[in-house]
Amino acid sequence: MYSKISSANVIGVDGFLVDVEVDISNGIPSVILVGLAETSVKEAKERVMSAIKNMGFSMPSKKIRINLAPADMRKEGSLFDLPIAIGILSALGYIDYSEFYKKYVIIGELSLDGKIRKVKGVLPICLMARELNYEGIIVPYENRYEASIVDDIKVYPFDNLIDVVKFLRGELNKEPFDEKKEDFTNAYDLDISDIRGQWAVKRAIEVAVAGGHNLLMLGPPGSGKTMFAKRIPTLLPPLSKEEALETTKIYSIAGLLNSGIIKVRPFRNPHHSISDVGLIGGGSYFQPGEVSLAHNGVLFLDELPEFSRKTLEVLRQPLEDGYVIISRANYKVKIPSKFMLVCAMNPCPCGYFGYGNCKCSTYQIKQYQNKISGPLLDRIDIHIEVPNIPYEELKYKDGGESSYVIRERILKVYEIQKLRFKDSKIRTNSQIPEREISKFCKMDIKAEEFLMNVSKKFGFSARAIHKIIKVSRTIADLSNSDIIKVEHIAEAVSYRVLDKLNNSLV
Ligand SMILES: [Zn+2]
Repeated sequence: MYSKISSANVIGVDGFLVDVEVDISNGIPSVILVGLAETSVKEAKERVMSAIKNMGFSMPSKKIRINLAPADMRKEGSLFDLPIAIGILSALGYIDYSEFYKKYVIIGELSLDGKIRKVKGVLPICLMARELNYEGIIVPYENRYEASIVDDIKVYPFDNLIDVVKFLRGELNKEPFDEKKEDFTNAYDLDISDIRGQWAVKRAIEVAVAGGHNLLMLGPPGSGKTMFAKRIPTLLPPLSKEEALETTKIYSIAGLLNSGIIKVRPFRNPHHSISDVGLIGGGSYFQPGEVSLAHNGVLFLDELPEFSRKTLEVLRQPLEDGYVIISRANYKVKIPSKFMLVCAMNPCPCGYFGYGNCKCSTYQIKQYQNKISGPLLDRIDIHIEVPNIPYEELKYKDGGESSYVIRERILKVYEIQKLRFKDSKIRTNSQIPEREISKFCKMDIKAEEFLMNVSKKFGFSARAIHKIIKVSRTIADLSNSDIIKVEHIAEAVSYRVLDKLNNSLV
């Protein structure tokens, strides 16, 4: 008595096919599971046996052998429970599965009473099943929206084992689930105009988003740095379907997907106590880190100096390449992690340097600012001040332009950049390498003179000057000017708050 069921597992962000083979023979009653299964799969034996018994099927005293093929791929997770149960039941003759093999992929965790529980990685598995021309996929009911993201494959959601058996026996009529939940119109419930006044900060954020520049906000507690950060995704262009799918896949393997496809750009805000693995991903069974959960969105690091230097060092690869590669003894995965980095910090340990009641010494302030890793700071083109504005002053101000209006301007700059970099790998002004600055950032004589003078005055490093030029390129784009002019440089210089602060503390 033998049966074979198509199931699947996930490695990195991709699904792969797994055949669950079940053989039942006479011999000492036992259940043997082979095929490079991790602990979480081995536990399936107990759950599956209980679920089968508790659903009223009688189990003969026989030897049950379960093989997960291909044998050289490691398998993790509880999603083999359901295919194993179906495999056993068909090997016992309760179901004739031969006509369904190569037709359906089955995944799902079982509870002891036969209920089917949600699992991780459903989206990449559905994509794989469609790729391999499977007609349908049997998934846990709670994963139905996630599965229905994929077109051209029939989704059959179930919440208990007995219904799956009835369905496969032709005793239960079930239409495939087909409730698409896709709506790419703006779905944010926040808007930049929620914040009154603060025009200078809003302008700097617009520049940062338009040119793909990472951003650092410096200001006393309560000045609204987090409020600004949370609204930055609303200024980014709407997610394309392709981007939405990429991001949704990552949430699927992390088990964080509760509905259908993700329609808004993610905003991730990890606490400064986060571990390297939490930030970058990894673990004995691969879990995506915050950098990947922020893919196509914003990664916000509040209280930047409180993050450990070592933890921040791991940000270099994703910031540089837009992905991370994680190698462990039992896997190697490459996972996308392209995000806008937004950081915030107080100006000093007490938070009030430059705002009245600071009690810190110059030494303490320098120490505090030196805690930020240099290589990370090198990746941040724009640093601005977010001042505390008294309530009386704000009372008479409104929220100004909506996210939509600002985003329209930003989208125009995206078009300009697309044209500018059409023959290169560069996507945004922030990515212009030093050697190509003179090619892409033409400025007039007055602007050049001005840049030389301010650089001398503030003691900007060569690196800082390059950033100023790239940011002024974006500012010129926002006013639709091919040539960078004095006013563009002047504005870009105003976005180097940390350099100026450092130099003033010497
Ligand atoms: Zn202070």
